[in-house]
Amino acid sequence: MTYSVISGHSLDPIEKKPLFHFFPGSRILSVGSYGCNMRCDFCQNWHISQARTGSIAAETGPEELASEAGSFKNNAGIAFTYNEPVIWFEFVRDTALIVKGKGLFTVMVSNGFVNSDPLNEFLGFIDAFNIDLKAFNETFYKRLTGAELEPVKKSLKQIAKAGKHLEITTLVIPGKNDSVADMEAESKWIAEELGDEIPLHLSRYFPMYKSNEPATPTETLDNLYDTARRYLKYVYLGNTVSDNRQDTACSGCGTIVTKRSGYDTKIMNLDISGKCAGCGNQIYRYLTLPSGAGR
Ligand SMILES: [Zn+2]
Repeated sequence: MTYSVISGHSLDPIEKKPLFHFFPGSRILSVGSYGCNMRCDFCQNWHISQARTGSIAAETGPEELASEAGSFKNNAGIAFTYNEPVIWFEFVRDTALIVKGKGLFTVMVSNGFVNSDPLNEFLGFIDAFNIDLKAFNETFYKRLTGAELEPVKKSLKQIAKAGKHLEITTLVIPGKNDSVADMEAESKWIAEELGDEIPLHLSRYFPMYKSNEPATPTETLDNLYDTARRYLKYVYLGNTVSDNRQDTACSGCGTIVTKRSGYDTKIMNLDISGKCAGCGNQIYRYLTLPSGAGR
């Protein structure tokens, strides 16, 4: 029903997905459709995720979208985002394969609530994932999302094991998933099961859809940032203004290698292969877009 039906379409900074360690400073053509396999009370995109049909949208086919992706400068490729790409499988597959054929890259921003066989198919044509880990708490998932935590953890392990680029986002909601104990368990689990270099984005919540809790206090975010940083090398705050908690510091020697202010990204102290100029530590595996990608 949603094949070729586009709800949103924009050439975004790749940092907005958010992806901080995948071609930082590049842009990515971002598209979404309608619907979701979760029903989160706090959904920040509920206008499209909980819409019944996409009757207002124009149709854009895979070929058309892929050639558009190839027409922009400094465009890493295409990101399937805004609503849940898992339920858009056939369109994502058909488009991603053409985009990759042009030497561009594919990104999927997902809740990770997917069986392992279809996820395995996604792994064949998606290069980078940002997966929402909405809470490290089964009760939260059952009550507020209509889904379950364990399948999401399983997906995260499957993506990491496949060697695909992975970043994780947790939207921090006051009184719901903001306990230090849960964050400690979450970041420890990520470090042990997925790797301590997986970037974790802690995103500020604003009241939306059926959820009336006030916006997350910045002290809560700062506190959870400190907790997560004890286990993970790269933790970032999102949807908020922060002095340096959006920057990337080398985990080896502490040199700042990327300064971020809003969606302004300045890369520094790195060699062309993504290694720290100070100590040689490999920070980014994907830094410079290959020449000849796209146009
Ligand atoms: Zn270094």
